[in-house]
Amino acid sequence: MVALDGVGKSYPGGIDALRDVTLTIHSGEAVAVVGPSGSGKSTMLHIIGALDRPGTGTVEIAGQRLAGLSDRRLSALRGRAIGFVFQQFHLAAGVDAVDNVADGLLYAGVRLKERRRRATSALERVGLGHRLGHRPHELSGGERQRVAIARAVVGDPPLLLADEPTGNLDSAAGAAVLDLLGELHEGGTTVVVITHDHLVADRMPRRIELRDGRVVA
Ligand code: ADP
Ligand code: MG
Repeated sequence: MVALDGVGKSYPGGIDALRDVTLTIHSGEAVAVVGPSGSGKSTMLHIIGALDRPGTGTVEIAGQRLAGLSDRRLSALRGRAIGFVFQQFHLAAGVDAVDNVADGLLYAGVRLKERRRRATSALERVGLGHRLGHRPHELSGGERQRVAIARAVVGDPPLLLADEPTGNLDSAAGAAVLDLLGELHEGGTTVVVITHDHLVADRMPRRIELRDGRVVA
């Protein structure tokens, strides 16, 4: 599902955010990416998610080599194969849960009525069937994150990437989000979760530890 080979990424000012990262994540795995703040976790997730290109090395996602793909082809790959969940939820304000989730299908060329039908069923899957018409400010933090997860998985992507998905949640809401990621993994989705919370990391079958941009364990 994910193959990085010798991946490096530098930012202006001489910051080597990733150095010579080589790793493979197989289809169906669930992986935690851990490491201190600034160790390169988000940079690596952006590269795996085809949101950013590496400075050196090669990246293959879902069997597709990314080098040489145009920005347009990269966004098509993201739309088809990858769901994203972020710490800050990134829901559209003033837009109800169904339409926030339905937006996850915009790039799949699905008609609005069908998008809403599939959004409703994704919200039911994350336990929010009773909050379909609520807008983000009418939802708790944990509910917002579940809406964000429903949006990420509404198109059934084989790969789900989450960057500190429980970082803004209390422990009960965080546990519910973790359970949900576990269920998606059991359903066959490849899950990669960045976290600096060892309680989260301990629940994942595999951990990749970064330090100063390198994989150290
Ligand atoms: P983590 O997610 O593990 O906290 P990041 O991948 O966000 O780490 O950052 C790794 C390093 O790269 C840090 O030193 C950070 O300051 C730097 N960095 C991240 N993004 C940028 C950017 N857009 N421009 C310059 N430096 C950046
Ligand atoms: Mg980060």
